Amino acid sequence: MSELFEQLKPHLDKINAYSSALTLFSWDSETCAPKDSSEYTSRVVGELSSEQFKANTDPLLKELLVKLKGDDSLSVNEKAIVRNLWKTLEDMEKIPPDEYREYAELQAVAAQIWQKAKREDDYASFSPTLEKIISYNKKFAGYKAKDGQKLYDVLLDEYEEGFSVELLDEFFSRLKEEIVPLLKKVVEKNSEIDDSFLHQNYDINKQKEFNRFLAEYIGFDFDRGVMAESEHPFTTNLHNHDVRITTHYYENMPESAIFSTIHEGGHALYEFGVADELTQTPVGTGASMGMHESQSRFMENVIGRSEAFWEPIYEKLVSFFPKQLKEVPLEDFIKAINKVQPDLIRTEADELTYSLHILIRYELEKQIMEEDIDLSELPKLWADKYEEYLGVRPKNETEGVLQDVHWAQGMFGYFPSYALGNAFAAQIYEHMKKKLDVDAVLRSGDISPIVKYLGENIHRYGMVKKSRELLKDTTGEDFTAEYYIQYLKDKFTRIYDL
Ligand SMILES: [Zn+2]
Repeated sequence: MSELFEQLKPHLDKINAYSSALTLFSWDSETCAPKDSSEYTSRVVGELSSEQFKANTDPLLKELLVKLKGDDSLSVNEKAIVRNLWKTLEDMEKIPPDEYREYAELQAVAAQIWQKAKREDDYASFSPTLEKIISYNKKFAGYKAKDGQKLYDVLLDEYEEGFSVELLDEFFSRLKEEIVPLLKKVVEKNSEIDDSFLHQNYDINKQKEFNRFLAEYIGFDFDRGVMAESEHPFTTNLHNHDVRITTHYYENMPESAIFSTIHEGGHALYEFGVADELTQTPVGTGASMGMHESQSRFMENVIGRSEAFWEPIYEKLVSFFPKQLKEVPLEDFIKAINKVQPDLIRTEADELTYSLHILIRYELEKQIMEEDIDLSELPKLWADKYEEYLGVRPKNETEGVLQDVHWAQGMFGYFPSYALGNAFAAQIYEHMKKKLDVDAVLRSGDISPIVKYLGENIHRYGMVKKSRELLKDTTGEDFTAEYYIQYLKDKFTRIYDL
């Protein structure tokens, strides 16, 4: 390690400490903090965020980075760290510190305001907060925008570098073209699939026990991770030896917890797999939101909803719930967990309609950021799009515009990553099949060769490579939607006998 890079170490440690503290507070607020705590805790979060801001924009750090940017002797990982710190510093310097702090405090209370509004089906009570969040996002994006760059492009770039409105318009229009007609055919045959056995009573304690087994089965390491419960399942991490996931149990919907566990487990495997040399540095986490989703959705859908995956463990599930499943052959179980049901709630969406939920949010975000739409119209715009693409209309705001936390957290530009993740996953799967007999691995009851493949090709790099680069280096091809479309067509033609 060069002497110059060595001088970066105290800065890295400080930045890492603040970001770890903030991560812990956010984990705490989602899993176990008392509901009246947020207003008070937000002061602590505001203070920590402002210290983090100072650490990231420290003039001494800047001086050092200017020198390091021109240092050719740095290793690939060191260069990635320098590049990442420089980008953060450049972005942050464009935002006045007061505004940064005010925004962090707003974010900390907004999620609670949203939660209450959602509980009470009252969008109007959340709308003024949403308006403030949107105006901060526009202002910040404006500070960062290069000449003539669209505000929404700036936001998209934060979550998925190298992806723009232009590319996403093309991607989503391909999906619309192919998925909407396929969905129509599938829905016509929907009465043929019986999933009533999944809607009986499944004891929550038994579900918990089975889900713990499942997490371990896919490779979740309980010595380096914990599993808790939250309203919306998610994954967070402090480093590659502290990765945390949540799931959510419903008595009459066991598949909800099962696929949340596998999904978040997929995210967790990514974080466990980041190389030791990278963890606790700014590039010691997943490459991007989209690449992260590719890992979780690959585990959840491509692997977790396949017959080969369940072959070795279906008997175990039946042994937990004999009354409900004893008479159900594996083949029927597989059909039921892949049943397509155009519906209102994104997080419960099936594999085929999922990306249409994202398409709707993408189109709305584009309007919010690029055309000054009247926010009071948002619930109606939302409902109209659901009717148009999915043929269902929300009866209220809780199951409509208020369903997701993302906008309350100021995450505009994040949603498209979910759909991109599906497409990344299909492209990676196509390549994996050339290297591994994936179905044979799954049938063997030991899925570790799959995790190993992902570790070697994706996980270990952390953020050293950008998502598009990682995809290209792994699969030999630039990003394309075509494998994803083909995968969906093949799978649902098979499941529905089209
Ligand atoms: Zn996810």
